[in-house]
Amino acid sequence: MAGPTPTLGNPRNTIEILNRYRFVFQKKYGQNFLIDTHVLDKIIKAADITDRDYVVEIGPGIGTMTQYLAAAAAKVTAIEIDRALIPILHDTLREYENVDIINEDVLKVDLKRLADEKNDGRPVKVVANLPYYITTPIIMGLFEKHVPVSSVTVMVQKEVADRMQAGPGTKDYGALSLAVQYYALPYVVANVPPNCFMPRPGVGSAVIRLDVHEQPPVQAEDEALLFAVIRASFNQRRKTLQNGLSHVPGLGISKELTVRILEEMGLSASVRGEALTLKQFVDFTNLAVRYLKTVPES
Ligand code: SAM
Repeated sequence: MAGPTPTLGNPRNTIEILNRYRFVFQKKYGQNFLIDTHVLDKIIKAADITDRDYVVEIGPGIGTMTQYLAAAAAKVTAIEIDRALIPILHDTLREYENVDIINEDVLKVDLKRLADEKNDGRPVKVVANLPYYITTPIIMGLFEKHVPVSSVTVMVQKEVADRMQAGPGTKDYGALSLAVQYYALPYVVANVPPNCFMPRPGVGSAVIRLDVHEQPPVQAEDEALLFAVIRASFNQRRKTLQNGLSHVPGLGISKELTVRILEEMGLSASVRGEALTLKQFVDFTNLAVRYLKTVPES
């Protein structure tokens, strides 16, 4: 480790800081602070942080993981929404000269601009113990806005980690699995029980690493259409694809067009979206794009 040795990550020091600042947990911000050094070591190792890396941490809390990140990385930017945590962060991170703290809602921060300005547009690593109430918008925001990111190593609800990794034919397979796998290769690094946090969350957690593809394994000609088709398929999971898609206003894909494309792909006209692989969804929408260009739909 390059910087000072972390002092947080155990219950005693965490309680001491919380008491000193009379900190009151805000449930609405999903505040569950890590109090287990083994889990912190595992996250840093899984994120593969080196002294050449610029790291963005979302939701630093009292700065526990930030200390570990700052000790290992070249630079860290920590984005925290809760104003009450900012003086605490300035205190717990005072010995780390390579940390910037931004007091803002991460969903309002232009992360692409941040990476451009602070890392000359080179890919950043995102590491976080995420607030669970906004896990999906945070991760999808990084991907859909094409923030230059090489990997995302995050603590999420275990059930969400399972969904990100799932493949067709499983109950966890859905829009999130496909969206994540379009942009990245996911793998679960560790399962983390509730007693590793203060306060304890009501659900199990998992650390998942998403290795962002430099080029998607399959390329959608129209990403917005791809994700609209995927969402429509899983909103009406039990419906066949032809029925599911034809009911979505503005999508412009009729039953007839769906059947024609499925036939061309060698798939049954009664197939459900939940049975399609990512490649099949991409092939389907790429064909739809071509048909919609040449054959105006009524
Ligand atoms: N990283 C700390 C740790 O591991 O102990 C805290 C993790 S806690 C699960 C989530 C953190 O995200 C909290 O500090 C919370 O205040 C912050 N947070 C919640 N919503 C946020 C948002 N929209 N933007 C930035 N930070 C947010």
